[in-house]
Amino acid sequence: MRRPVPLPRCVIAAFFAPAVALLAAAAWADDPVGIPAVPAIPATPTIPATPATSATGKALATTPTASAAAETATAAKAPMAPAEGAPRFTVETVRGRVVFFGEAMQRLAGVKCVDEARERTLALETADGQLLPLLEDVRGRGFRNDPRLRACDLELTVRRYRVSPFLQTLRVYSVEKTGKFELDYWCEVCAIAMYELKPCECCQGDTLFRRRLVRGE
Ligand SMILES: [Zn+2]
Repeated sequence: MRRPVPLPRCVIAAFFAPAVALLAAAAWADDPVGIPAVPAIPATPTIPATPATSATGKALATTPTASAAAETATAAKAPMAPAEGAPRFTVETVRGRVVFFGEAMQRLAGVKCVDEARERTLALETADGQLLPLLEDVRGRGFRNDPRLRACDLELTVRRYRVSPFLQTLRVYSVEKTGKFELDYWCEVCAIAMYELKPCECCQGDTLFRRRLVRGE
């Protein structure tokens, strides 16, 4: 009987190699520990919360990101809990000129904000160069709608709320050489006052810019 011719080893190896590979893959699938470890890659790069302790702290410090700045600000103020019974706001008197925060920051601090934010926020610029942000409710919007209110020295009666640096305007006075005047808008037909420049809320007619001398000032 003739003996079969033995196949060369390389042919045998080529024939069985795919099967061996499949078996090996199946073994890894059953045994996750056997799968070569792949380092976890976060979906988005993480930014160190404290740039000063980072290996690249110098670069981060000169180009801080918005999120890093926000984290730092939060960390600085987070532990403060309001005292029990503390008032929700205090009423204060502040003086200065109303400006747009973005324009003033560039002029006073050399910091340029994006163009679309230049007139987004109102602020009171005090005589010593501080910017006090103003809440823009209906009364605050009055500063935006009437440039005359941004062209004179003002005294504002404001609320400073515990939760925010933004001041809410209660009363507006102009401070002039001849005295202090309370400012608002007046409809002579309806005899009602308004807080911003616009047609009368009642008759839709024109309103007057009213200046009333504050006696005793
Ligand atoms: Zn009216």
